Amino acid sequence: MSEIKIVSSAKELEALLNKFRNQQCSIGFVPTMGALHAGHLSLLTTALSQNDFAVISIFVNPTQFNSNEDLAKYPRTLESDLLLLSNKQNCILFLPEIAEVYPSNDCFVPMDFSRFDSIMEGKYRPGHFNGVVHVVHNFFKIIGECKAYFGMKDFQQLAIIKKMVPHYNFPIEIIACPTLREASGLAMSSRNARLNKKEQESALIIYETLLFVAGNKLIMNPPSLTIAAKEFFKSGDLELEYLEIVDEKTLETAEDWRTPKVCCIAAHCNNVRLIDNILL
Ligand code: AMP
Repeated sequence: MSEIKIVSSAKELEALLNKFRNQQCSIGFVPTMGALHAGHLSLLTTALSQNDFAVISIFVNPTQFNSNEDLAKYPRTLESDLLLLSNKQNCILFLPEIAEVYPSNDCFVPMDFSRFDSIMEGKYRPGHFNGVVHVVHNFFKIIGECKAYFGMKDFQQLAIIKKMVPHYNFPIEIIACPTLREASGLAMSSRNARLNKKEQESALIIYETLLFVAGNKLIMNPPSLTIAAKEFFKSGDLELEYLEIVDEKTLETAEDWRTPKVCCIAAHCNNVRLIDNILL
């Protein structure tokens, strides 16, 4: 395929992907909510480099928003998204309507995330991960056997998706992709489109704080460093929602540095909610 093919019917996509699989072609899948930026495109580039074909979906998933206002304000830039994707080869854009993703015979049964859903994002966005798992479950049902690409920017989401694959027994391999940043260090995000220049500068305190944490790892234990990092964050003018240092695998609050850890931050820049993290 020399140009991107756009499909909006789940049945049509299933048929197309089965045809590819019958020809022994491998498939990469990159789910997104659109307002595409270089971070999304890096996932697609990796998917295309590791597979014969890639499917990128654009679907603003209503079930993962816990505020109607946030859902309404989520940037939708389909025209420029199409331009960014137009010359992609061996690529299918899945652009479904709600009824294609949530059919009347939807067989989704929610899973128990144990504490993964009650801390950090789960604590501040009740129901969010159930919505994420629901939409990813229904996409995985449509796409079938593939490698699926997710960004480490959404660290907790990635951890939950890694848990859901064996839970639902999907024939899918999850590939974690690094966070792409602006030259300033600000993590690329669709939500950055809602920040003016001054706000983008203020938002840098998030990455600066993550670097502060990484830079002080050798001289402080995680609890002391958490307190110091929260103080450091106050030198900026964003409103901190949470800053936590947790175990990379279990997401338990870190007490020592014996296993790999991650520092996760969520903060509000005016009314734009931003998240970022750094591996330690
Ligand atoms: P979203 O459209 O925000 O739902 O993101 C779709 C996918 O792109 C998710 O797997 C995100 O983790 C990933 N993603 C978002 N921002 C970035 C970034 N700056 N770098 C790499 N991946 C990203």
